[in-house]
Amino acid sequence: MHKPSSHPEFQIIRRFFATSNLSFPREGIELGIGDDAALIEVPLNKYLAMSMDVLIAGIHFPADADPSSIANRALAVNLSDLAAMGAEPYCFTLGLVLPQSDEAWLADFSVGLQHLARQYNCPLVGGDTSQGPMSICIQVQGLVDRDRAARRSGASVGDRIYVSGTLGDAAIALLTLGLDSHLGGDFCLSVNEPSTECLQFFEDAYYKPQPQIEFASAAGKLFSSAIDISDGLQGDLQHILDESEVGGNIRLDALPYSSSSMCCVSPENRLLAALFGGDDYELCFTVAEKDCVELETIAKQLGVIAYLGADGSQVEATAQAFQHFSAQAQS
Ligand code: ADP
Ligand code: MG
Repeated sequence: MHKPSSHPEFQIIRRFFATSNLSFPREGIELGIGDDAALIEVPLNKYLAMSMDVLIAGIHFPADADPSSIANRALAVNLSDLAAMGAEPYCFTLGLVLPQSDEAWLADFSVGLQHLARQYNCPLVGGDTSQGPMSICIQVQGLVDRDRAARRSGASVGDRIYVSGTLGDAAIALLTLGLDSHLGGDFCLSVNEPSTECLQFFEDAYYKPQPQIEFASAAGKLFSSAIDISDGLQGDLQHILDESEVGGNIRLDALPYSSSSMCCVSPENRLLAALFGGDDYELCFTVAEKDCVELETIAKQLGVIAYLGADGSQVEATAQAFQHFSAQAQS
């Protein structure tokens, strides 16, 4: 019989996952990697928020993509789900299936997880490692005050609909990265050679989505409902409207776009990318009319929402501008 420590799976876990940069101690985590299960505390007045995403090579990311970028993206999309519940990251688990044990790949992958894990004090507490076609499954756990959880079902008539950042950039990134898009043959760049800055911007939008954790923790108490935009604004807002049993209007002229998307795609394709593209990982949320000024103040303080005029230049987000960039829920 093999001693456990000589088994390749245990070596992988010890070298790349049970490390001080990933599996670090945190208050409330009684026991992490190394036993049959992790032991974690849930404070009395909190809910444990849990969310999982499975990423399959060749479907959700190119198999030859940079392992550190894949790892970052896999954790970021999970943290985005916590933000959409108004929850604070707590810890995560990792189910990793790899065709072979490639040390260089694992080392880069492990580094790619560390950045966000450290940034959000969200240690890796367990997982499973197996051989097979490459896939990455992350489950995050978060904590949220019981009366603060932002559900999809809370929107009311008269609430305003907001988004936390520019839309469509990750969908456009599929074009610049040479990956398949479901948006059809007419979905293309309007310039032959995007600038290096634009190319970098789109690549980051795809591989390094920024989960809106800080914004959600500061402003989540004002959300009457929230969702993170993973499938395009149209479909994801529809989830809020369905669950809340209300209707809504989107002001198409008010959707926020990045200056790179203003530069590189036509207005029609920008709209297509924002409404139906996906992978934005921005929040779409609703706020009662009476709370909009407070929401605006927080958003401005955190610099979360930048506004662009029709020519792509930055516009100061005044209370009026904010109203302009919102839509009204209706029954
Ligand atoms: P068991 O057989 O009891 O399920 P494993 O042998 O699969 O345990 O894993 C041993 C320990 O290593 C467990 O604590 C498990 O949570 C952890 N672990 C396994 N794979 C990973 C991984 N990919 N990332 C983090 N922890 C892992
Ligand atoms: Mg196991």
